[in-house]
Amino acid sequence: MIEYFGIRYNAPIYKDATKIVLPQGMICRYCYENVRSDDDGFKDEEGYIHRECNMCAGLGTISHQQKTCHHFEGSMPEIDVRLTLRQNALMAALYFYTKMSGHGMAYYKHYQEDDESTLFENCNY
Ligand SMILES: [Zn+2]
Ligand SMILES: [Zn+2]
Repeated sequence: MIEYFGIRYNAPIYKDATKIVLPQGMICRYCYENVRSDDDGFKDEEGYIHRECNMCAGLGTISHQQKTCHHFEGSMPEIDVRLTLRQNALMAALYFYTKMSGHGMAYYKHYQEDDESTLFENCNY
């Protein structure tokens, strides 16, 4: 049974999901960072996870999605060690959206408004 918090997106994972109160301050089981008041995500039997972290866990990091990591006999590192796990997950989600649906810029704008705005300036992908 999947429960979600924050915005309900038009994605298959939300099909039978029920909304819960945003668990502000709880730890994401992927990136170990707190859930913030403007985050979206899920709760399942393993705990809480940010929406983007859940995407990254399923789809892989940017290098994984590009098939340039060791899983594909590539030489790119799985994660960008200059960034936090959370930032790697945000980048992976952004990359996926940009590639799949052209929603990347809307997503970028959302995160440009807070303290993660430097995230994209630091990215060399
Ligand atoms: Zn997370
Ligand atoms: Zn990989």
